Amino acid sequence: MDQADTIIIGAGAAGLITAYELTKAGQKVIVLEARNRIGGRCFTFSGDEFITPVELGAEFIHGELPLTLKLLKEAQIKYEAVSGESFQSKNGEIVKSEFFTENWDAFEKALLEVQEDQSLETFLQQHFHEEKFAGLRKSIQQFAAGYDTADPARVSLFSLRDEWLGGHKEETQFRIPGGYIQLMDYLAKQVQDLGSEVHLEKMVRQVNWQPNSVEVIANQHASFTGKKLVLTVPLGVLTLSGNETGAITFDPDLPKQRKAATEMGFGAIIKILMEFADPFWKKQGLNNMQFLFSEEKIPTWWTQNPQQNNVLTGWLGGKPQDGMQHLSDEELLQEALISPAHIVNADASFIEQKLVAAKVYNWTADPFARGSYSYATLQTASALKILKTPVAQTIYFAGEALFEGEQLGTVEAALVSGLEVAKTIIGA
Ligand SMILES: Cc1cc2nc3c(=O)[nH]c(=O)nc-3n(C[C@H](O)[C@H](O)[C@H](O)COP(=O)(O)OP(=O)(O)OC[C@H]3O[C@@H](n4cnc5c(N)ncnc54)[C@H](O)[C@@H]3O)c2cc1C
Repeated sequence: MDQADTIIIGAGAAGLITAYELTKAGQKVIVLEARNRIGGRCFTFSGDEFITPVELGAEFIHGELPLTLKLLKEAQIKYEAVSGESFQSKNGEIVKSEFFTENWDAFEKALLEVQEDQSLETFLQQHFHEEKFAGLRKSIQQFAAGYDTADPARVSLFSLRDEWLGGHKEETQFRIPGGYIQLMDYLAKQVQDLGSEVHLEKMVRQVNWQPNSVEVIANQHASFTGKKLVLTVPLGVLTLSGNETGAITFDPDLPKQRKAATEMGFGAIIKILMEFADPFWKKQGLNNMQFLFSEEKIPTWWTQNPQQNNVLTGWLGGKPQDGMQHLSDEELLQEALISPAHIVNADASFIEQKLVAAKVYNWTADPFARGSYSYATLQTASALKILKTPVAQTIYFAGEALFEGEQLGTVEAALVSGLEVAKTIIGA
């Protein structure tokens, strides 16, 4: 039996930074991770035939995000600005543009007049139910599903209004050429060098606790004890019950916290990485492409610009549509070949011949994620109050979903949330 000051469940960004801060403050920390790798939803993949590491999970730094950039500098990890232009493909035509949709002005006007928060779906049904707005409804729903990976029936309209019309300045986005994994490796190494432990393949099943004392049981028999516990598992895992893989049972139970977690939004995402023998899209006027938005089944695509390689990334976010979330990886790959083929007016077989490597990752089907990342619902504010209150100064929640602010659902959110919890524990 291992004894710790604090036990942390999950070795993603939130778990690792919490461990780093607590260890620096002199604590003995044990991190328990179900997977055989660290990083969680930061998953840099090097393998198959890919010429360069590819990101199956987090990829961008969405602006000058202070904690992420501070840590990258501390770890001496290089990052670079994303470059290139955005395009939209509509009715067989490709035009240079950011997201654009008909009737946007009417939509914006109605959105600004709303007095009370409601779901996006309710708002669209109330103001834009007529047939002539079918295109607008589809585009707006796709937009919420695409970037926020949100269910229109649950997402808070006010959160979208802040995001879309809040007047935030257009921020430069960055990527880490060697992948987010380098930051995760850095944090884990610091933790271990300073005397704490990171254990892989330790799927936590049960937590027995009383004030200032926790016993954590992982896999069948591995047992760890400590004074405090930090839970960083994704919302999709926190809301599991019973015998499902990844589910954690508490004794005494935490029904209020579990209910709060179900009231928050947690999206769905499938990410598809494909590398080709040549960048066939460049011949279609897309030679400086970064993003391309389309009406295809896999609607959003991007390149690695300014890195000059032949990798295309496909992104299918949001509520499961057309049963896509239930397709096998092989079936999804076939769909993924059809979408860019349509966009450039080619046959799927034409681009399939050029395919060198491919990786499909359905995060909703991943037992230790069960989805993408969080989005705001009408109940998020009240749920956060519950989850951010430590349970008997013994059990703490951290992770991207526990962050309050614009960068909800990002790596920065996970890091900030972990840091905050570490400070709370140190100060307790
Ligand atoms: C496809 C995709 C693309 C994304 N793109 C971006 C992006 O471009 N930029 C950005 O900033 N963010 C992005 N994100 C979001 C970002 O990845 C997350 O917000 C962040 O990594 C979450 O970190 P976390 O520590 O909160 O959770 P996680 O990374 O999920 O860590 C939680 C850990 O808990 C472990 N765990 C689960 N159950 C158990 C159990 N029972 N026992 C033990 N361990 C368990 C998990 O395996 C996991 O390692 C993306 C996410 C996805 C899925």
